[in-house]
Amino acid sequence: MAKQEQGTNLREESEMEYTCYYCEHKTDKVHHVTLYEKDREHDELLCPECYSEWLASLKG
Ligand SMILES: [Zn+2]
Repeated sequence: MAKQEQGTNLREESEMEYTCYYCEHKTDKVHHVTLYEKDREHDELLCPECYSEWLASLKG
């Protein structure tokens, strides 16, 4: 009988929409990148704009 409440717990990532890790804009096209911070790496999602900036920063 424990019915899950619907509509009260909407997740932001429904509908193929992602939030950019850097600028926090919503985007439906993301690039999956691996960022290195200190000694560990973590995977994040970047919008096309931040992705190109990130690429440029890699190249120096
Ligand atoms: Zn972005």
